[in-house]
Amino acid sequence: MRIWLSPPHLSGREGALVQEALDSGWVAPLGPMVDAFEADLSAAIGAEHVLACSSATAALHLALLAIGIGAGDRVACPTFSFVAVANAIRYTGAEPLLIGAEAYSWNMCPNALEDAITRSERAGKPVRAIMMVHLYGMPADFDAIRRVADAHGLLVIEDAANALGSTYHQRACGRLGDLSVLSFNGNKIITTSGGGALLSDHPEWVARARYLSMQARDPAPHYEHSQVGYNYRMSNLLAAVGRAQLPDLPDRVARRRAHFEAYRAALSDVPGVVFTEEPAACFSNRWLSCLRLDGPNNADRPPLPPPAVLCSAMAKQGIEVRPLWKPMHQQAAYAWCDYVGDDLADQLFAGGLCLPSGSSLTDAERTEVIDQLRRFLVDGCP
Ligand SMILES: *Cc1c(COP(=O)(O)O)cnc(C)c1O
Repeated sequence: MRIWLSPPHLSGREGALVQEALDSGWVAPLGPMVDAFEADLSAAIGAEHVLACSSATAALHLALLAIGIGAGDRVACPTFSFVAVANAIRYTGAEPLLIGAEAYSWNMCPNALEDAITRSERAGKPVRAIMMVHLYGMPADFDAIRRVADAHGLLVIEDAANALGSTYHQRACGRLGDLSVLSFNGNKIITTSGGGALLSDHPEWVARARYLSMQARDPAPHYEHSQVGYNYRMSNLLAAVGRAQLPDLPDRVARRRAHFEAYRAALSDVPGVVFTEEPAACFSNRWLSCLRLDGPNNADRPPLPPPAVLCSAMAKQGIEVRPLWKPMHQQAAYAWCDYVGDDLADQLFAGGLCLPSGSSLTDAERTEVIDQLRRFLVDGCP
């Protein structure tokens, strides 16, 4: 592959900061770079307490543990999402209650959420928490989700792994939930190679997560453990990589948004190709530019190639494009879970694509993506 979907983008400052971490002698695993990265994130997002973790998946797991979710509990989450969300719920022994998508943002539908929680209560299986996601960087309708949560007395965990730099009603994604999670995996807008963070304004939850993330070590001169813990902290060396990139966040958001506008300008006229608008209250970092190939059986025009066919045709040109998330209710690991929603998530998987969107993607590369994609969309795939 020559052109990747969302490859790591180095700022050029990483080497100096990693060297500083090495020179400080703080190599394994915690140290001043982790503390400084937590402070940088707190300043950037506005959350009072930040715990840097080895991944967002670990941070999601800790968020659930911090509020006491465990075996036998039910946690509502979107069906149309990355699997880490449902996995984190399963790690605690709880059961995901899968919720359908809504058309504006493709995120968890607040009406389906309300319906699912009410039905679950009636069935004697009350939901204990809500985990919501801002997919592809597009903020979910958080106020509507919060209304549902408040009506049922539930806490909201916000997965902002895709949404660093996005805002909802001018509020930063990553500080909307009672607890929030960011990812610094290699494909995200800021990377630490691998990493994540848990954020909250509630000191007791973050303190509990911090304790659990370091093997749940009780205060004592020897190793004393009253609970099962985890090894979920970020390394001091990797925190240096994140610190080197965070100042570039606004530029990176602007670049990714420019990619989306260029794709939309160049491809909207292809019959059947649809781009999602940004809802009025939302500012998306456009982590990944997505489009829908809207309905292959429109009689007025020849069918568009399905995503899988387009992906392999593009791969032969050295360009990575991907189908949208496969819904959890279609996954063998999660097909046993209750699902409440319509078939939008299935349609998105059957007819949607993500395009190369990295902040290091050049204009020339983007033009090549557009030219090749137009060719396959208009002339069909070989
Ligand atoms: C990438 C991602 C995660 C997991 O992040 P890791 O840091 O790789 O564990 C979780 N949720 C969503 C929505 C993601 O895209």
